[in-house]
Amino acid sequence: MIPRTATTWQTGNWQKSLAEAIRDPAELLALLKLPDELLPAAQKAAELFPLRVTHSFVNRMRLADPSDPLLLQVLPLHLELDDQPDDFVDDPVGDLQAMPIPGLLHKYQGRVLLITTAACAIHCRYCFRRHYPYQQAHNRPEHWQAALDYIEKDNSIEEVILSGGDPLSLSNERLTRLVEQLGEIPHLKRLRIHSRHPVVLPERIDEGLVSLLASSHLQIIMVIHTNHAQEINNEVRLSLQKLSVHGCTLLNQAVLLKGINDDVANQVSLSKSLFENGVLPYYLHQLDKVTGAAHFAVEQETALKIEQQMRHQLPGYLVPLLVTEQAGYPSKLPLSGFPAK
Ligand SMILES: *Cc1c(COP(=O)(O)O)cnc(C)c1O
Ligand code: SF4
Repeated sequence: MIPRTATTWQTGNWQKSLAEAIRDPAELLALLKLPDELLPAAQKAAELFPLRVTHSFVNRMRLADPSDPLLLQVLPLHLELDDQPDDFVDDPVGDLQAMPIPGLLHKYQGRVLLITTAACAIHCRYCFRRHYPYQQAHNRPEHWQAALDYIEKDNSIEEVILSGGDPLSLSNERLTRLVEQLGEIPHLKRLRIHSRHPVVLPERIDEGLVSLLASSHLQIIMVIHTNHAQEINNEVRLSLQKLSVHGCTLLNQAVLLKGINDDVANQVSLSKSLFENGVLPYYLHQLDKVTGAAHFAVEQETALKIEQQMRHQLPGYLVPLLVTEQAGYPSKLPLSGFPAK
C-alpha cells in the first residue's frame, strides 16, 4: 500500500477531490511507480475514453504492480484499440432505443432509470456507457421537468433509479430539489441510486446527503459498484455506515472481469467483505459487449462455474445473481439455474 495523501473528509471537500481526480496517464504511472513503457498505449487509449481516477482509489492500489485489480479497472491499455469481435458494439444494451424522452429509460415494468449527469469520479474501462452520447441524451436539469411529467402520468411506475454517469456527482442542492419533486408524485414508493461514489469518492457521503435522503418519505436503496474486496478500506466503511444508519438499503453490483475478479476466492471475499459493511451482493454482471472491452470478457462456462462454487461456499444471501443484459428483454437475464458441467 502506498502512503495515504491527506484525507479530505469535511463536508464540501468532495467537490475538490472530484476536481483533483487524475486524468494524465503519466501522473498515474509515476504515482504508482509503474514502467514508462506503459505510457504510449495509455495515452492512445485515453484519447478514445479519457483516464479518470480519484486519489482515494489510487491509494488502495499496490505500488509497481501492473496487474493490480484496481489499477486494471482504470488504466487505458493497448488492448482497447485491438480489433474487437463482431458482437462488441457501441450500445450493447439497446439504451438508445428505450428512451421515450431524453435521459429517461423505461425498459422494465414499474421502474424508470434517469440519466442525471455524465460525470463519474472514475472511468471504468469496461463501462458499457463509454461510447454513450451524453451530449444528446443526458438529462440536464432543465430537461428534468419532462422526465417528472412522464413519471407522474404513468402510475405503474413505483421506483425511480437515478443513474448516470454518477448521480452523486450532482450537488446536494440539486439532489434535494429532485428528490423533493419525486417525493410529490403519489404513486412513487422507492428511490434507487446507482452510484460508485461511496466506494471511489467516499467523502461524497456527507451530512447534507444523508440528511436529504433520510428526509424523503420514499424508501431509499443505494446500489454501489464494487468489484474487488481490496476496494473496501476504512473510508469506504465509514461512508457505508453513514448510509445504513440513515436507513438506506445497501446493495452491490459487480462486473465479472477477466484478470480482476474472475475467480471464486476473490468473489467469496468480496461478498463477505460487503456484508461485513451492511451491503448485500445483488448482481454480478457478465460484461456488456461494448467496443474496447473485449479483453475483460469471461467465458460463460467459467462464469457459471464461479457462481456455482460461490453457492457451495456461501449462504444463499451472499451469492449475487449472475446476469447479462439483452437488448429488448424485459429484465436482466439470469444465466444460472442448472449446474455447470
Ligand atoms: C438495470 C436496469 C434497471 C433495474 O433493473 P433491476 O433488475 O430492477 O435492478 C432499470 N432500468 C434499466 C434501463 C436498467 O438498465
Ligand atoms: S457509469 Fe459506472 S461503470 Fe461507467 S465509468 Fe461511471 S462509475 Fe464506471
